Amino acid sequence: MLNIDLHCHSTISDGLLTPAQLVERAATRGVETLALTDHDDIAGLAEARQTADAKNITFINGVEISVSWRGRTLHIVGLDIDPEYTPLVEGLATIRAGRSQRAENIAAELSKIGIHGSLEGAYAHVGERRLIGRTHFARFLVEQGHAKDVKSVFKKYLVKGKPGYTPHEWTTLSDAVNWICGSGGQAVIAHPGRYDLGKNVLNDLFNEFCALGGSAIEVVTASHTPEQVKHFAQHAQNRDLLVSCGSDFHGPGESHFDLGQLPEFPLGCTPVWHDWKIIHKVMLRTD
Ligand code: AMP
Ligand code: MN
Ligand code: MN
Ligand code: MN
Repeated sequence: MLNIDLHCHSTISDGLLTPAQLVERAATRGVETLALTDHDDIAGLAEARQTADAKNITFINGVEISVSWRGRTLHIVGLDIDPEYTPLVEGLATIRAGRSQRAENIAAELSKIGIHGSLEGAYAHVGERRLIGRTHFARFLVEQGHAKDVKSVFKKYLVKGKPGYTPHEWTTLSDAVNWICGSGGQAVIAHPGRYDLGKNVLNDLFNEFCALGGSAIEVVTASHTPEQVKHFAQHAQNRDLLVSCGSDFHGPGESHFDLGQLPEFPLGCTPVWHDWKIIHKVMLRTD
């Protein structure tokens, strides 16, 4: 069994390790194939690839795109994308600009409940001031003693129905899948168990995703229980969709799964790397 991890984050988005540190950690944990999938940004791919080459890890260009669909936020992972593809590059820049505006709105909401200075506080946790997200606010709020850890902050402040939440319009499902596929990559629905969708809505989502040219469902992820792994594997098989796996690692102490620490797929699944020549080369390697 290959050690493959196709979902993780660096300091380019809301991870705690730089792209190079992340790949070094993956190497020490025995990861053989890694995709870096920062939220709405591909600026870390070159550095990650350079380190992966030095560590003899097969590196896959990735991204995790924020999407609004029927009033909900979904995440679509792109694998083996071309980071030079203009519609993708420009589309992601537009999403990042929206994030900056949303950050101001979040800070305004937090001010209303007496938490001031959160915009600057959150930006102090951002790598290069490129991409700001709720995790950066969460780290600021923990630092200020408003909750004991990032997980608890999300329960108290940053989710729907709580102070510090603001609705936000991301890009469309169709744009995200088109950018990924147009750049020669494969689109994957990330952690579907996190969206809490009823049976009919879930079916609509999978139908729409298939019609747009999506390739896979992320079945194995830190967010899924063993039952959800089986459930989404069945969905994939029913629709001839491929399956993907990833730790969704954000940093030591913040993530449920470490890099490459993933359970296997249920029997009968076809992995997203089924036709990847680069992986077949690794499997045939005799050294
Ligand atoms: P954003 O894209 O800025 O809305 O932030 C989404 C990110 O917040 C996710 O990718 C996770 O890293 C983090 N996140 C969301 N919900 C939670 C949660 N309940 N506990 C911990 N982190 C969370
Ligand atoms: Mn994240
Ligand atoms: Mn996600
Ligand atoms: Mn993620």
